[in-house]
Amino acid sequence: MKNLIVFTGAGLSADSGIQTFRDSDGLWENHSVDVVATLSTWKRNFETVHRFYNSRRAQLATVQPNAAHVMIADWQRRYGATVITQNIDDLLERAGATGVIHVHGKLTEMKCTACGEEEYIGYVEWDYTKDRCHCGCLKGMKPNVIFFGETAPEYPRMWKTLDNMTKDDVLVVIGTSGKVIDIGTIAAYSPATSILSNLETDEIMSMPGNPRVNDWQFDHVLHGQASLMAPEIDILVKELMG
Ligand code: NAD
Repeated sequence: MKNLIVFTGAGLSADSGIQTFRDSDGLWENHSVDVVATLSTWKRNFETVHRFYNSRRAQLATVQPNAAHVMIADWQRRYGATVITQNIDDLLERAGATGVIHVHGKLTEMKCTACGEEEYIGYVEWDYTKDRCHCGCLKGMKPNVIFFGETAPEYPRMWKTLDNMTKDDVLVVIGTSGKVIDIGTIAAYSPATSILSNLETDEIMSMPGNPRVNDWQFDHVLHGQASLMAPEIDILVKELMG
């Protein structure tokens, strides 16, 4: 049996109006990731962190899924695709995808670092001066987004899916630099047929400790804006899935 595995990053949602992360030199919406996305510093930057994610949540409420999100949701219906995303937005779900593996968490949820409870809050502001967990915790409440240095509970499921790919399977990678998760190396060594679609070719070679996706690591490369490339990627996936 052929399996379709889809692995996505910030580039997938760029055409919907959500800025990527690495395209702006490690700044995310003009903020340093050291301040807004790092486990060892977030409590020190408590207000900035909450203001940042409040504003990401407010923005998320105003944007819409694009053609690439819709295509991926359709692949789930057609081929039972497994969808893994590094994105914290919910645009895949809003396009109709289900069971998406969010390896870096979800913007629409909060997590209590004291008791571990996760709470869906949607697109509303978290009032960090008074909103608390059910256990009473105020200062331990963080967005349910995986920060640098934090354990990522969905990684084992992701590695298992990627490790189990066979020569009959198809891996589609859209909109990721590969700097956080080295999907280029995985594609290069996997027996699965692989497709890469990013905005453009990254000219810098992937090296140990400095990973990034390179075209040579993939069997097929279709660069361009994800929403515009969707019809072409879809045709190739149809051919490969048979
Ligand atoms: P990245 O920013 O490191 O890389 C983005 C990649 O997308 C680049 O390779 C670029 O070529 C490509 N790209 C840019 N615009 C594109 C477009 N219109 N169409 C297709 N491809 C396009 O992203 P990453 O590898 O996902 O790593 C960033 C981390 O930051 C993620 O782990 C994620 O948690 C977080 N993040 C998430 C969001 C989101 O949820 N939408 C947005 C920014 C950052």
